[in-house]
Amino acid sequence: MEKKRDSTPAGPNESVSRQIVMSGIRPTGFLHLGNYFGAMRNYIKMQDEFDCFFMVADLHSLTTHPDTRELKANVHRVLAENIACGLDPEKVALYCQSQVHETAELYLYLNMMAYKGELEKTTTFKDKVRLNPENVNAGLLTYPVLQTADIILHRASYVPVGKDQEQHLEMARTFANRFNHRYGEVFPEPQAFNYNQNLVKVPSLDGAGKMSKSENQMATLYLADSDEIIRKKVMKAKTDSGPTEKNAPKPDYIENIFLLMKLVSSPATVQQFEDDYNNCNIRYGDLKKQLAEDMVSFIAPIRNKTDAILQDEKGLEQIMRKGAEKANKSAGETMKLVRAAMGLNYF
Ligand code: ADP
Repeated sequence: MEKKRDSTPAGPNESVSRQIVMSGIRPTGFLHLGNYFGAMRNYIKMQDEFDCFFMVADLHSLTTHPDTRELKANVHRVLAENIACGLDPEKVALYCQSQVHETAELYLYLNMMAYKGELEKTTTFKDKVRLNPENVNAGLLTYPVLQTADIILHRASYVPVGKDQEQHLEMARTFANRFNHRYGEVFPEPQAFNYNQNLVKVPSLDGAGKMSKSENQMATLYLADSDEIIRKKVMKAKTDSGPTEKNAPKPDYIENIFLLMKLVSSPATVQQFEDDYNNCNIRYGDLKKQLAEDMVSFIAPIRNKTDAILQDEKGLEQIMRKGAEKANKSAGETMKLVRAAMGLNYF
């Protein structure tokens, strides 16, 4: 059996028996709709039901973004965007990864249990090597090990993430189980989590891959985009001359537009366009105009709130400090168990 936590970790209203949740977002650019619907939407819901640890993954960002000049501003932005979306730093531990030094220690131990062959097979590693062949560093290869350390450092059971992280979570289970087998049960098996069961992938507007912080920027909708840019990006989404047969299956790029619409428009609006599509009288110009307006209504309040939060740098620092205290407490408790299990407690 996994070891139970011996004290209360995070905010004011949690109890010892609640399940632990952990997740993170890299400060590698502006947050986008994929981050929101793949991850943050669940964070916000989960904060009332679980003991949550949410971090800005600044160490992970060093694997692909070694230049740290913009790092602080990017960390502040991710924090502000999370809070603007509804995350409450009083309820959760909202912290920055590099402030929890035990992460590096656990990462070291786990690296001894992670094999080169299995790391090289990771899809995200292969993608990153393809995108950035001149910076294939060891940190990139062991990214899933660091991610495992982040998660199991708090003995988390649930990890709200998008579909792109499914394989990493499988690896986290492998590494956690390997540790438990070798040294004794310390960690629960972490599971990828989404309230609606299936993990989410928000497609890019050009239908080629997923929305992402640093790639395909014109095909990604950012939570910081102006109303004008949102309209421009949506209107440029790929369509065709429309279906010629009733109830025809949708091509990928049309399915994607409907998928985005389901995220931000009312069910009645979606149904109306579904009916139009099935009856072959859909006008894609109208569909995109409607989607653009609904997207503006969704994004504008988040953007405005973020801007206001970013004005208060001292407030953000305070939030980070408090988050780090909560995370350090939990990490310290876990590492005592880890060192004892491994026989590294000599006195
Ligand atoms: P990015 O790939 O944009 O740099 P991160 O690697 O920081 O994003 O991931 C942060 C969270 O956002 C993860 O839980 C990830 O699964 C989720 N996520 C990122 N892009 C998408 C997307 N297009 N659809 C769904 N979830 C996504």
